[in-house]
Amino acid sequence: MTFIPATYESSREKFRALLNTISDRWPGSRLLSHFIEAGSDLTIDVISANPTNEKQKLLILTTGLHGIEGYVGSGILQLFIQEYLPRLDPGNTGLLLVHPINPYGMKYRTRINKNGIDLNRNFEEDFRALKLLNSHYESLKNLINPGHPLRNPLYEKIAFTWNVLKALPKGARHIRETALMGQYRVDNGIYFGGFEPQEETKFIQGILSSAIKQYNHTVLLDIHTGYGPRWQMTLVNPPSEKMTANETAIRFKVPLVVGVNPDEFYTIHGDMIEYFHKMVLSEYPEKKIYAGSFEFGTYGDSLLEGIHSLRTTVFENTLRWHGGSDTARDWMKREYNELFLPSDPEWWQKAQADARCAFEGILSAEKYF
Ligand SMILES: [Zn+2]
Repeated sequence: MTFIPATYESSREKFRALLNTISDRWPGSRLLSHFIEAGSDLTIDVISANPTNEKQKLLILTTGLHGIEGYVGSGILQLFIQEYLPRLDPGNTGLLLVHPINPYGMKYRTRINKNGIDLNRNFEEDFRALKLLNSHYESLKNLINPGHPLRNPLYEKIAFTWNVLKALPKGARHIRETALMGQYRVDNGIYFGGFEPQEETKFIQGILSSAIKQYNHTVLLDIHTGYGPRWQMTLVNPPSEKMTANETAIRFKVPLVVGVNPDEFYTIHGDMIEYFHKMVLSEYPEKKIYAGSFEFGTYGDSLLEGIHSLRTTVFENTLRWHGGSDTARDWMKREYNELFLPSDPEWWQKAQADARCAFEGILSAEKYF
């Protein structure tokens, strides 16, 4: 049985306790707790385990890049340890497990880090050039960054719907792209990618790069929630993946795969999975890598559910920067939790079943079992 933990601290305790289990078969495994800032107890915890014989294969599992998504990530990680770890070969397979990349966001139940930055838009180098990106972002200001305190829920629902209707002539796809692709100018706006690499980003870049270069073959899986259909996990390929979504689905025997491109997903910049996938292709072309994200859908993927999800994202951000009434705050707390951490036990059952299917398919096809 695996559970979604109740707090960041209890989740971290459970994660740290895995070191014992892992050390049974990977002697010399290590736990590293990286403090993200002085005077704070927030840590990125990493368990690394070297193979006993030869460094051939590396499995990296990362969670909580989007803070709050780390609760489901933590449950999935525990599931992996219980059900799949026993099938890996400690002779030739190394492990790198990360919990969570964004501890601030996990503790305070938000997607962003302390500086208001979406870390999955932050894995970039040239931030100056990125400023020019997404030039339509400000034109949707009334809809996506309204900039006033949040009033009562009924009023805000009507106002939001009105703003959607006013923006719709530009096309639903245009709104989706503009809102979600990330932006590098408005530091209190949604999907802000930052003006510079964040501490969390630099730490993860260092630790993953140095592990990846020691092995011939890497599988990197990053766990997320909130995107895609509610009752089916989506496996998301990075833009530089050469397999098409269809080829990936057949190879891994999973029902739903999308590639990050405007037709299937949405264009994003600063994406972590793409950063490491591209790094291997360009710096170590002789090495093999599969890198992908598990996206456990929550609200659903219809147009109306997409609008609902955008509204939750916008209002949560509005409350952070501009405040609002207590009723609005309670309302958003419930909605935001449901968007990234659904309360329905059946949802969690299905999420676990989908995770099993993906672990089984990917790790068999990549010959990790
Ligand atoms: Zn995410």
